[in-house]
Formats: sequence, C-alpha cells, structure tokens
Amino acid sequence: MRIINLTRNKTTVEQAGDGVKEPNNKDKVINLLSFDQIPTNKEIYLRAHELAKIADNAEGAMIKEPSWLMGALETELLDLMIKPLYSFTKLVENNICMHTGFVGPYQPDKLFWPKGQNTVVCARCGEVDNVYNFQHTDTFGLFHCNTCDKEFKVWW
Ligand SMILES: [Zn+2]
Repeated sequence: MRIINLTRNKTTVEQAGDGVKEPNNKDKVINLLSFDQIPTNKEIYLRAHELAKIADNAEGAMIKEPSWLMGALETELLDLMIKPLYSFTKLVENNICMHTGFVGPYQPDKLFWPKGQNTVVCARCGEVDNVYNFQHTDTFGLFHCNTCDKEFKVWW
C-alpha cells in the first residue's frame, strides 16, 4: 500500500518498510499543520481539505496531530477514498518507541451488519437497503448509496 506521510515527522525506517513515502511538498504539509491561534471551524475544514489533496492518488495517509484537526482530516481523506492511518508505536529497549504497524479509521458502519455480512450502512445518511457494492477486493469494498448518491469505501 502506498501511504503518504501527512505528519510533521520524518518517516522512520520501519514506516518506510510499511510503504510510507514523504510528500513532494513537505514544507506545505508542515505549514498546513501549524497554527498560531485557535482555528475556526472553517479554518479546520480548509486545512484538512488541502492536506487530503496532497495525499491524493495514494491508498493511505499517515496522520498524527494536532488532535483537533484529525476528525476533519479523516473525513476529507475518506471522501477521496484514502485510508487514514495512525502509526502504532511500541516502547522497546532504552525508552525508544518503534513503529510496529497501523491503526485504521474508526468505521461505525462496520460495527453492525443489520442484514448480514454483505450489507453496510451508509455512514452519511444511514441508508441500509439502498446501498450496493460495486467493487470488492481482498482489502476493501466500494459501495454506492442511492439515497444520498455518494460512494464510500469500507476496509475489511
Ligand atoms: Zn447515503
């Protein structure tokens, strides 16, 4: 999986081994993650939107902080069908934290399957019956909701 690093940190050797690549414009990423005053809702949306566009064409984006931006950034990435990923680090010897894998996005529609394993709930409008699966791979499914006329991706 090709994953773009949307954190201010440099990609570690372990993360690179998991497919993480630095964006071409790291300075822009750092600027978009930097705030010198409390942001408005609109500012949060605009920053998250710009950041997500930097990861466009990647399958995943590694994200981290600031915490209050991550909800919006997850939403914007999911809109582009890019998987938001958080690095999971484990404390190893000598107080060194090492990347050991990723935590994926919280997907409430995966928590309950009201009509069996092949149905999902549209996270935008709650539709169950009027949702169809038009692509199915080993790692994800692409769905279309006829009620709100949007596509979404569910990772298995
Ligand atoms: Zn819907």
